[in-house]
Amino acid sequence: MPVYEYEHTGAPCEAGRAFEIRQSISDAPLEVCPVCGGPVRKLISCFAVRTPKGNAQLKDMGFTKLVKRDDGVYENVTRRDGENRYMVRGKPETIPDVSRIIRD
Ligand SMILES: [Zn+2]
Repeated sequence: MPVYEYEHTGAPCEAGRAFEIRQSISDAPLEVCPVCGGPVRKLISCFAVRTPKGNAQLKDMGFTKLVKRDDGVYENVTRRDGENRYMVRGKPETIPDVSRIIRD
């Protein structure tokens, strides 16, 4: 049975105080807390979605981020050891070596 999250909406419990309870999918949502009898509402479960927060995190996750700095010039803001800071159009040697990042 899945676990659902509820929060108290008022007395006798503190509003906002949450708890989890195992319920069948077919069960109607609780309207009162089984412990204190106070009013509750069901919270929407959200799935944890990992969104990278910055360049360092992107780099840790194996991404390469290029930021356009000029016409045909891109800064590699996630550069790793040995990579060029700038990727310049027409200079293939400045392209990040993705094969070093992707293993297996
Ligand atoms: Zn309660």
